[in-house]
Amino acid sequence: MKWLTHIMASLLFLKAFGMLFNVPGFVFCVLGALAPDIDEKSSKLGRVFHIPLSRHRGIIHSAWPWLAAGLAVSLFSPPAGYGFLIGSFSHLFLDALTPQGTRLFYPAKLRLKGPIRTGSFSEMLLLAGIIGLFLLV
Ligand SMILES: [Zn+2]
Repeated sequence: MKWLTHIMASLLFLKAFGMLFNVPGFVFCVLGALAPDIDEKSSKLGRVFHIPLSRHRGIIHSAWPWLAAGLAVSLFSPPAGYGFLIGSFSHLFLDALTPQGTRLFYPAKLRLKGPIRTGSFSEMLLLAGIIGLFLLV
């Protein structure tokens, strides 16, 4: 998925959890929504901070690093940690809707996949739906 879809979906989840106007929660939610793509040099966050240790959507797109990071952040600031967890898991959920999918429980081989291609018209429809829900919730 594209970065805007990731950010809007994460903010929809953040709003559903009643944390949209919590500043640390908001900031860390947006960071979490972009963070799993640091394994790709051309991503928004990957241009600034790139981790070349795995191929795209390998271990960096599993639940473990983001669960650990979110829990570690929540030790210092619970709203920031919860925001980070919401953002990063929103990212993993959306990537699981694409044909490339995600291996959420890496190294287990199970790959969660879906039909929505990144940058396609169906992603634009999904984004429109997310924005519509965001305005309604
Ligand atoms: Zn991703």
